[in-house]
Amino acid sequence: MLRAMEPGIYVLRLGHRRERDKRITTHVMLTARAFGAKGVFYSGDRDEKIEEKLRDVVERWGGPFEVKYEPDWLGFLKKWKKSGGFICHLTMYGLHVDNCIDKVPRDRPVLVVVGSEKVPRIVYELADLNVAIGHQPHSEVAALAVFLDRYFRGEELRREFERAKIKVLPCERGKKVIRL
Ligand code: SAM
Repeated sequence: MLRAMEPGIYVLRLGHRRERDKRITTHVMLTARAFGAKGVFYSGDRDEKIEEKLRDVVERWGGPFEVKYEPDWLGFLKKWKKSGGFICHLTMYGLHVDNCIDKVPRDRPVLVVVGSEKVPRIVYELADLNVAIGHQPHSEVAALAVFLDRYFRGEELRREFERAKIKVLPCERGKKVIRL
């Protein structure tokens, strides 16, 4: 179970469509984990295969990182705000990331919302901050990666994952993996 009210970054992926979005939602989740988020919520179609895939990655490559399906995304956003959480919505229509990243708190739980197709207007209104990763359309995976990298100032790429069973040993050529 996600301990959602602890400070840290969580991600909400809106509107998952089981067939159409299976790769991109998986990539949103893998990116969230690899770039320092503590967990991910998703709405739309429930997809147990994606949940299993992520749990398998956490089991082998370490955590902590959790995935939770959230059927009522609107109620969830309202509850998040009411209990003191901060909401950051990634949209190309928002403020340039470099002009507002300092407003994202470090002592409160932060929910980073990414869409799939058209994002309802209420999300823009409930968000404490609408953040653009440039003002051109691209992808939720790219937007999330850049946002997290700016927020953590690159330190997330050196993080050690807890209870990992395997780990990459950096090398100039080829592949080196150690079992722990
Ligand atoms: N057409 C949709 C809309 O107008 O809401 C957006 C579709 S886009 C493929 C999916 C998601 O990627 C968006 O909801 C947003 O979270 C993210 N995204 C795409 N480009 C972005 C940008 N330049 N800045 C921030 N987020 C972006």
